[in-house]
Amino acid sequence: MGEKKGKAIIVGGSIAGVSCAHSLTLAGWDVLVIEKSSEPPARSPTGAGLGLDPQARQIIKSWLPRPHLLDEITLPLSIDQNQATDSEKKVTSILTRDEDFDFRASYWSDIHTLLFNALPQSMFLWGHKFLSFTMSQDESSVKVKTLVMETQETVEFQGDLLVAADGCLSSIRKTFLPDLKLRFSGYCAWRGVFDFSGSENSEIITGIKKVYPDLGKCLYFDLGEQTHCVFYELFNKKLNWIWYVNQPEPDLKGNSVTLKVTQEMISKMHQEAETIWIPELAKLMRETNDPFLNVIYDCDPLERIFWGNVVLVGDAAHPTTPHGVRSTNMSILDAEVLGKCLEKCGPNNLSLGLEEYQRIRLPVVSEQVLYARRLGRIKQGLDHEGIGGGGFSLEQRNMPFFSCAPLV
Ligand SMILES: Cc1cc2nc3c(=O)[nH]c(=O)nc-3n(C[C@H](O)[C@H](O)[C@H](O)COP(=O)(O)OP(=O)(O)OC[C@H]3O[C@@H](n4cnc5c(N)ncnc54)[C@H](O)[C@@H]3O)c2cc1C
Repeated sequence: MGEKKGKAIIVGGSIAGVSCAHSLTLAGWDVLVIEKSSEPPARSPTGAGLGLDPQARQIIKSWLPRPHLLDEITLPLSIDQNQATDSEKKVTSILTRDEDFDFRASYWSDIHTLLFNALPQSMFLWGHKFLSFTMSQDESSVKVKTLVMETQETVEFQGDLLVAADGCLSSIRKTFLPDLKLRFSGYCAWRGVFDFSGSENSEIITGIKKVYPDLGKCLYFDLGEQTHCVFYELFNKKLNWIWYVNQPEPDLKGNSVTLKVTQEMISKMHQEAETIWIPELAKLMRETNDPFLNVIYDCDPLERIFWGNVVLVGDAAHPTTPHGVRSTNMSILDAEVLGKCLEKCGPNNLSLGLEEYQRIRLPVVSEQVLYARRLGRIKQGLDHEGIGGGGFSLEQRNMPFFSCAPLV
């Protein structure tokens, strides 16, 4: 007789949550995803750009009925280039150039939509805020209490496994590690996506393509004095930029690492951009609608990422700074390894599966988080002594486990 199917409740319907929904379904589990946002994000495009490494792309393709769609919505990033900007002379010079990079660039909401649309919509409960959970004494089942945002009713669900995909401020993680605090990096990131569909030949686009001739295939890092920015093209005529600015820790209100920005803050950012970056880039920043500001955090590596039948994935398991272009790739790898471990051990041996997941993923993500931290502090001209990560180079390919992280 076959084993009874396990039921997984996943809290969080972002990249880690939808990825786990794929991998656990493939592993033979029933899945329910609980997400507090009222609807799938594609209906109100949000987020900005991200880079996908070859291993994560291969995994995503293995989940999709039409894998070629991933290539269609992403652009190649076959070059990783670091350059220095001389703010006074307004000239740039190349520091490193890796022409064998093999990442692809995507809009966050395009990847989310692609993954989400390939799953049964009945698997998702939007507008449900996770409130709390209780584990049975023998750790074989878990009850999850949620608040239905629209009606303010509370509803309970029961499962065999609780997957915390609720992001870097995870409230599920807090129940096990109440004293854990995220570490402010020392800087925030202005982010923007410039949409140039229909204006491909405008002055701003011809200007920017003249000074960044490899746009469309290059991940550009521009280093100024105690600051740096990242710049690359996305599918559908969009340019993605991120500019890291050293500052004291802002007072975060609410449960988000994105700050509300005022017109005054945006104007100040535009003025500062002109003093630092070459005029074409400063102009692009000025012309971008609705730039937003992320506070950059990470966290010292955790000692464990599962307790009983509750497991952490994605940013909940390893909040990281973005300098190693890792967080989305890590979420996809977490999901894949978790699915394979659970499939191998079966629902009756859940703890063995979770132990194996932790054994495989924890060493990898711990090293990657510390390396990204070091890379960020070096690029921002901040003290980086005593921060792990071993040898150092500006190039992305020196990230630990860059070419391949272990699977099951
Ligand atoms: C709207 C959005 C846009 C983003 N855009 C980008 C981007 O452009 N580039 C980039 O590199 N990264 C982006 N990120 C972050 C990126 O998704 C993560 O860094 C990484 O992929 C790990 O994802 P995650 O699923 O672990 O965490 P997150 O993406 O942070 O997702 C956590 C999810 O959990 C949900 N959640 C939290 N608490 C509760 C609760 N109590 N009840 C129910 N649901 C809850 C949140 O609403 C969210 O959907 C974005 C994240 C979000 C949510």
